[in-house]
Amino acid sequence: MEAIKDTLSFNEIQTLFNNQKGNQFKVANRSIVERKKKLKQLKTAIEVTFRDEIRTALYNDFKKHPSESDLTEIYPITGEIKHTLNSLKKWTGRKRVSTPLAFLGASSHIQYEPKGVCLIISPWNFPFNLTFGPLVSAIAAGNTVILKPSEHTVNSSHLIKKIVKSIFSEDEVVVIEGAVETSKHLLSLPFNHIFFTGSPNVGKIVMAAAAKNLTSVTLELGGKSPTIIDETANIDNAAKRIVWGKFINAGQICIAPDYILVHENIKEELVKAFQKYLKVFFGDDITRSEAFPRIVNKSHTKRILNLIEDSKSKGAEIAFGGISSVDDKYIQPTLITNVSLDSEIMEQEIFGPVLPIISFKNVEEVINHVNSKEKPLALYIYSSKKTNINYLIKNTRAGGTCVNSNDIHFFNNNLPFGGSNNSGIGKSHGFFGFQAFSNARSIYNQHVPGALELLMPPYNNFKQKLIDLTIKWF
Ligand code: NAD
Repeated sequence: MEAIKDTLSFNEIQTLFNNQKGNQFKVANRSIVERKKKLKQLKTAIEVTFRDEIRTALYNDFKKHPSESDLTEIYPITGEIKHTLNSLKKWTGRKRVSTPLAFLGASSHIQYEPKGVCLIISPWNFPFNLTFGPLVSAIAAGNTVILKPSEHTVNSSHLIKKIVKSIFSEDEVVVIEGAVETSKHLLSLPFNHIFFTGSPNVGKIVMAAAAKNLTSVTLELGGKSPTIIDETANIDNAAKRIVWGKFINAGQICIAPDYILVHENIKEELVKAFQKYLKVFFGDDITRSEAFPRIVNKSHTKRILNLIEDSKSKGAEIAFGGISSVDDKYIQPTLITNVSLDSEIMEQEIFGPVLPIISFKNVEEVINHVNSKEKPLALYIYSSKKTNINYLIKNTRAGGTCVNSNDIHFFNNNLPFGGSNNSGIGKSHGFFGFQAFSNARSIYNQHVPGALELLMPPYNNFKQKLIDLTIKWF
């Protein structure tokens, strides 16, 4: 199916924006019970009413197995909603903070208020999860929202629109389908917050557009997430977890282990364990496996195949896979070894089912390599030695890390999710998502005349002494 075209004119988009602007205080001033009611309706829609349609849309967009859809698209949204329903009262309640003695007679608290009219732009790889996930936080915080899903997952984007329409009025939450022009029109409007998930290159365009209106941004971006396996790691566990986390969604996952850095002494054993688990998970003929999805479109299929070809031309060897069909948008899970560090595949985010395996002799090599690149969205460590794990964490930088695991930090709503610099700005999930869509308003309340009034002009020696005392003691 062809990608979605731009359908609405700038004036039509602006009208939808203005309607939400006019309605924002009504939405913001709804009780917590009413916000929760909306979230419960969304939960029922995702978990029950539209669950089969969601599975079908994902099958039509990716040939994704229904169980994988449940785990990676349904569960993260329902998990986020449940977490929010349980915590919203606490998050929205006023938080008393102490007031310095110098301001005796006053009290202070923080009140989270909605930012206002928000824009959520989402990518194609997990269309439901990455559109509804941030929406949950935005609703919890009391905002109105315009959603712009990706143009590349046509079935999913149409269904997202249908689901939203079944719960919200347009002046509350509305889906605007379209491609780059639509996105650009939206980005020119003075939103109160923009939550963007996508590539670092488009993230820069979003941030530049937001700067014109001084709109705050959350940027959930991508990058190359290294996975480090030292000599002490449990190889079988590492292989099983990495094969799962790398090849789920055919590798089209922002937090997938992008490449492996393994100690040279265990490389051969690790490659064998990867080969074993690829067969355990997907069978001997992966083209027939219902558990292995397809690439989103032909152009991404060709992009990934070019990465394999480029690395082969620079001496890489295929240790598994290599079979592909552009027409079927199929690329077999592929392991490549002897990868030259100046191959394209070690520069670009792979975002597909190809795993380069690079060996190292000592951990300093690993640290130097990782720190010579942009900060990754995730960095994974497999080791059974605490000192090694802590050394790697302390001497590298990443948005998030799993130790002896990968990808799973995304699912824990008590953890902030996001990158750092090139892999993202700001955090999402749970309270961190709620915070992203809120302004932490400071409220200072003067109950009785305060000591500060004794320090106001005109100044004299006595007041200067009081000021000196204040600086020294309060
Ligand atoms: P993308 O940046 O190409 O597109 C994302 C969205 O931006 C789409 O809705 C698209 O219509 C819009 N867009 C594209 N070009 C634009 C432009 N010039 N101006 C304005 N809007 C534009 O990303 P993608 O290909 O859909 O997704 C893959 C990327 O997303 C990868 O880099 C991946 O790592 C990243 N990602 C990050 C996370 C995360 O949570 N950090 C999650 C999923 C994907």
